[in-house]
Amino acid sequence: ALDIHDLTMRFDGLDAPVLAIDRLHVKAGSRVAVTGASGSGKSTLVHLLTGLERPKAGSIRWGGSDLGRLSTGRRDAFRARNIGLVMQDFHLFPGLSALENVLLPVRLGWRMTPDMRKRALALLDITGIARAGQPVETLSRGEMQRVAVARALLLKPSVIIADEPTASLDRRAGEDVSALLVRLAGEEGATLIVVTHDPALLTRLDRHIHLDGGRIVEDVRGEAAR
Ligand code: ATP
Ligand code: MG
Repeated sequence: ALDIHDLTMRFDGLDAPVLAIDRLHVKAGSRVAVTGASGSGKSTLVHLLTGLERPKAGSIRWGGSDLGRLSTGRRDAFRARNIGLVMQDFHLFPGLSALENVLLPVRLGWRMTPDMRKRALALLDITGIARAGQPVETLSRGEMQRVAVARALLLKPSVIIADEPTASLDRRAGEDVSALLVRLAGEEGATLIVVTHDPALLTRLDRHIHLDGGRIVEDVRGEAAR
């Protein structure tokens, strides 16, 4: 579960905080949408939730550990181990195949096991990419994002966070990515937090948080997130 208390994030030179969240609890396994106008603090929230940035005040806990209190090295390790990330512009490595991109954690120092390779191939199979050896730069944009989703799942993260994962895709590709993301998160029992305005994705999520000026101004929960 995620617990935020009295969180504020400011950047130097700005008077108002970019993000100010008194309290937020997200149940493990729930699927949460985050919306808000441009500049409302959505990506800042993603950076804080993943430990890419550290809050000026307040706490962000995933289970036990308060991300803001960890050293940069421990935050990075926590993220690598526990959080799968999907970004709007895929963050794939050209020159590497689809499979090599899914296995990227191995290049970053993770020990490759036969199981990990099997899992990578199984994930790629679910994404519908025909050839695991295909260079990623030759894939369609939708396929690229499906590879990125498979990569986010490789290490069985308990949390998956996506920042506008379908925003640079056409409608059809966006629907495929939405279905895949929600399906895999569900199968893995992972908590899913997605910044999106895409109706195809929003309808698959069971809680909707709306930000305005860095504050939560709306929080609507369906049955599954109560
Ligand atoms: P978008 O929909 O355009 O992606 P967003 O909701 O993701 O917007 P953020 O990127 O979180 O918005 O930005 C929130 C505010 O914080 C903006 O006013 C932005 O200019 C400011 N901001 C973000 N990062 C920094 C930074 N590193 N330094 C200073 N200001 C920043
Ligand atoms: Mg953003």
